[in-house]
Amino acid sequence: MKLARFETGGRTLCGVVDGDSIKVVTDTDLRDVIMNNGAVAETGETVALGDARLLAPLKPAKNVFCVGLNYQDHITEGERAIGRKLDPQEVPIFFTKPPTSVIGPEDDVLVHQAVTTEVDWEAELAVVIGRGARNISYDDALDHVFGYTLVNDISHRDIQMKHRQWFRGKGLDGACPIGPWIVTADEIPDPQALDVLCRVNGETKQSASTAQMIFDVRTLIESLSAGLTLEPGDILATGTPNGVGFARTPPEFLKAGDVVEVEVSGVGILRNPVVNAD
Ligand code: MG
Repeated sequence: MKLARFETGGRTLCGVVDGDSIKVVTDTDLRDVIMNNGAVAETGETVALGDARLLAPLKPAKNVFCVGLNYQDHITEGERAIGRKLDPQEVPIFFTKPPTSVIGPEDDVLVHQAVTTEVDWEAELAVVIGRGARNISYDDALDHVFGYTLVNDISHRDIQMKHRQWFRGKGLDGACPIGPWIVTADEIPDPQALDVLCRVNGETKQSASTAQMIFDVRTLIESLSAGLTLEPGDILATGTPNGVGFARTPPEFLKAGDVVEVEVSGVGILRNPVVNAD
């Protein structure tokens, strides 16, 4: 089941995506659907996908959890770009993006020209937590996954490098496109067997498999939830593979007029135009 949140005719609705249409459900917040273990009641109304403006599937209640450096090829390209080796990680590196950074699948990625010139892409599979808990075990971890969506972990490299800690460089307004919908976990039997892609203006920049994650989804949930309560609707972006802009030769960054797409097989395509901020 693909669950979307969208606007149509001045209304904000949720529904089940079925081909080129959306079957409207009674809930207007997908967090309520998650709390009900995915149970939905259709209203009988159907909206053509083309008449819907898709929104981020969940209105963020808190920061989006993220993982850095979770693919070896991405670590290697980064080491080459910065000219030094990074210490090996025994545990995942978690950081967050604020709710104000979240945008939907039809919103603009902003180039904040006054503060950054290096706007980069990061295609990522994202996990949507279902049943909340803390101290979730590796074996139970996937039982706490409601579904999957996509995140483009837009990163402002000049700010990221200057401030060292990642929150600032990855937390600007518009830096967290999420969507286009949530695919329920029953449709993704193995989250470690998915293709992750990023295209800019139709040209493939990233192409990898979630099999290449250093810390798999189970380990990420086990590690993040150790002493920290995960709640229904929490989003966890699982890291990006190689092919990001700053590590390319020469480096490439997003600019106004570009279109950036994140795709994960079985989940969908998250496509955002890039525009200059006011
Ligand atoms: Mg990332």
